[in-house]
Amino acid sequence: MLTWQRAPQNAKKTYGSHDVLSSARKQLHFVKSDPTVKFMKTPLIDPFQRQIDYLRVSVTDRCDFRCVYCMSENMTFLPKKELLTLEELDRLCSTFVSMGVKKLRITGGEPLVRRDIMTFFQSIGRHLETGALQELTLTTNGSQLERFADQLYAAGVRRVNISLDTLDEAKFAEITRWGRLPQVKRGIDAALRAGLRVKLNAVALKGFNEDEMIPMTQWCAERDMDLTWIEVMPMGDLGNEDRLDQYWSLKDLRARLREHYTVIDLTERSGGPARYVRLEETGQKIGFITPLTHNFCESCNRVRLTCTGELYMCLGQEDMADLRTPLRANSNADLQLEQAIRDAIDRKPKGHDFDYSRQRPDGQMSRHMSHTGG
Ligand code: SAM
Ligand code: SF4
Repeated sequence: MLTWQRAPQNAKKTYGSHDVLSSARKQLHFVKSDPTVKFMKTPLIDPFQRQIDYLRVSVTDRCDFRCVYCMSENMTFLPKKELLTLEELDRLCSTFVSMGVKKLRITGGEPLVRRDIMTFFQSIGRHLETGALQELTLTTNGSQLERFADQLYAAGVRRVNISLDTLDEAKFAEITRWGRLPQVKRGIDAALRAGLRVKLNAVALKGFNEDEMIPMTQWCAERDMDLTWIEVMPMGDLGNEDRLDQYWSLKDLRARLREHYTVIDLTERSGGPARYVRLEETGQKIGFITPLTHNFCESCNRVRLTCTGELYMCLGQEDMADLRTPLRANSNADLQLEQAIRDAIDRKPKGHDFDYSRQRPDGQMSRHMSHTGG
């Protein structure tokens, strides 16, 4: 069994010097026989003693939908040359895995619209085989799952999160602008047939899907799927109606759920902003992601990588580290890249700064959710 050890105190400042380097090397641990993850290095620990073992990776900023709370109708996307290639994304993810990341979630934009994305899944799946990575998963709008569900399973994916806010075709077209519900439903069916465990993510929107809470719960129960509700977050300037108007507190939602089901509180935590309950009648797990009303930051175990190689240490803060430059500076040696990652983790803030309580969008992020992948 591997035992983790802290890096020497001065490793951050003088990592490049020979003495510290050789001392750091003594702490490397071999992991099985993967050619690209040769060593398990000292883990990533931030200044608040949180171990960072979860990386969310946005592989594209593009999407085939235009959800009103996420994108404007006329989005300007990044020039393709700014995106990391799939090989670069692989190298970056593999470096994180070698530094103790155990869970990778692939997101976007819509991850499954990126050309040749299956080659990335197939390649990164090798870390599951060695045991260096414990879970490879993705968040998707489901539109491409009919095509890709089997290939995802073959690559080692076992669970997917599919975003779906309504079961009403007209409302679905309204909220996603470009999406079509039957296509997504076929994607969900394909995922279930392929053997993937599916969790639905629904953004809770006041006056929009409040009345669907029970029907959606039932629909998921019939398919043995869990369901998580997400409070709408103040992201970007979308040119929509003020999203404060759409904010629906999940406290209210939880109370309504209790009117219909026997709700058992679960103590399990994912290191993220989700809290879970189990419904005795259906056996389902229902999650609540409440970044605005609960402080979950003390257990935060994650960082987010964008498709251009920016590492965001906190979803609710602007600070980020450019990893593309060190990645491209030297295509063979990873020391510079690893040091850039450690420096970034050393800047991970204690918490985010969203605040709706004063009824103005304090803490509002200027970047879109599709940039960091949620
Ligand atoms: N396209 C994929 C999808 O929709 O699942 C992955 C990317 S999407 C940005 C990831 C998640 O962020 C989705 O579940 C979406 O509903 C959620 N999301 C987007 N904008 C949001 C916002 N302003 N507030 C809360 N959740 C948001
Ligand atoms: Fe696309 Fe997902 Fe954003 Fe909707 S939430 S626009 S599906 S990235």
